[in-house]
Amino acid sequence: MTNLCRSLIFFVATIALFVQHCLASEDDTIALYSERAVELLRDAISRETTHGRGLVPAYAESLRQVFLEAGFAPEALTVVPYGETASLVVRYEGDGSSGRQPILFSSHMDVVPADPESWLRHPFELQADDIFFYGRGVLDNKFDVTILTTLFVWLKESGFVPNRDLIIAFTGDEESFQETVQQLAGDHRDLVDAEYALVVDGGGGVLNDAGEAIQFQVGFAEKTYATFSTTAKNPGGHSSMPRADNAIYDLARAIQRLEAYTFPVETNEITLTYFARTAPLLNNEVGEAMARLVANPSDAGAIATLRAQPQYVGTLGTTCIPTMLSGGHAENALPRAVTAVVNCRIFPGHTPAEIMRELQRVTDNPELEWRVVGVPVTSPASPFNTEIMEAIASSLEPIHSGLPIVPKMGSGTTDGAYWRAAGIPSYSFTGIFINPKDSFAHGLNERVPRAAVGESLRFWRAMIDELASPKN
Ligand SMILES: [Zn+2]
Repeated sequence: MTNLCRSLIFFVATIALFVQHCLASEDDTIALYSERAVELLRDAISRETTHGRGLVPAYAESLRQVFLEAGFAPEALTVVPYGETASLVVRYEGDGSSGRQPILFSSHMDVVPADPESWLRHPFELQADDIFFYGRGVLDNKFDVTILTTLFVWLKESGFVPNRDLIIAFTGDEESFQETVQQLAGDHRDLVDAEYALVVDGGGGVLNDAGEAIQFQVGFAEKTYATFSTTAKNPGGHSSMPRADNAIYDLARAIQRLEAYTFPVETNEITLTYFARTAPLLNNEVGEAMARLVANPSDAGAIATLRAQPQYVGTLGTTCIPTMLSGGHAENALPRAVTAVVNCRIFPGHTPAEIMRELQRVTDNPELEWRVVGVPVTSPASPFNTEIMEAIASSLEPIHSGLPIVPKMGSGTTDGAYWRAAGIPSYSFTGIFINPKDSFAHGLNERVPRAAVGESLRFWRAMIDELASPKN
């Protein structure tokens, strides 16, 4: 045997061993990093990172240490302070071979408050039974902060070099004022600028009551959250000498006009695809109405059926609804001012000013004083992104083959709305599969399925291979 042959045989044998090792160790590797993820989650839950407690910066610093120990350079890790809170930005440098802008991964480190008295288990201690982990933030959003951290550590420790930079932005006040995301998008654009953002918070896999995966939701857009107040004024007087005009009557008439009004039905590519892909899963009259609406967006019967469903009415257009009333100053005085608060969820494509003008037109009383309450954030819908949808499909294939992937429009405002508003298209989904009735985000006894740790790591590792592997 020539030396060349001997070398060749040795080389082939080595490759074979290497391939065998890779196949056998994928599950072992997931198990190993799952354990590390659970330890990180335990630490995360123990930190009461609610608004005003000032504990987010220490959490950010502890995560920074985890990245440092995994081999990230100090320059790649930036804690950006903001008042009592902070953000953490992590840059995973790529080789630039794709010639593409970075991908931004966004989650948040803060949580909504939890009262230990009313929880079955202590909200700031990670607890578990056979199926779930429990604790405040275990679903929203410390789970995904933990998964992204563990994923980046895993990639770094395995020597992976992406074909473009990957950036993590962990924000610090998503549950309160959402100013840290605006600070990053505005004042630190160089740190976070990206082709698109994957907001790892909400969306993701939906399980039915039998525990089967039925769909995977991807947030493409959010309605604008806007609140208005309208005030009827009157000279007032003594109630023993009533005058014909009265601020309460004026406001009541305006509210009745609002009640009788519905905003026009609107659809876009996202909502039509959502209805088209959800219809066959429902297998009832609501599903049939969805299918008819997709075929004909002005089908009056379908619209009436869907509008009668509180969980779908918001997908059909702008909604505005009175939520608070105040007024009068004494039981024996004619009211001088009466105010109603009207909360709107505005369909993408309309400004709050436009909607306020429509409310003024509908209520038909030029004497009413209208004001915008707070600062609404308007964000465009993100364009349909085939690359991301295909990456999700192939990453899910080994876990849940053939699952429908459904684009969604949210009715709230997450950090994704601010990335979109700043010109970075954003898509929201997590790797968690959960039954919506087990989702206690913001509520008591928040939980996440224990199986989600390994599944999420496997899912996101596959996503990275699809979106940023040098072979692509
Ligand atoms: Zn969240």
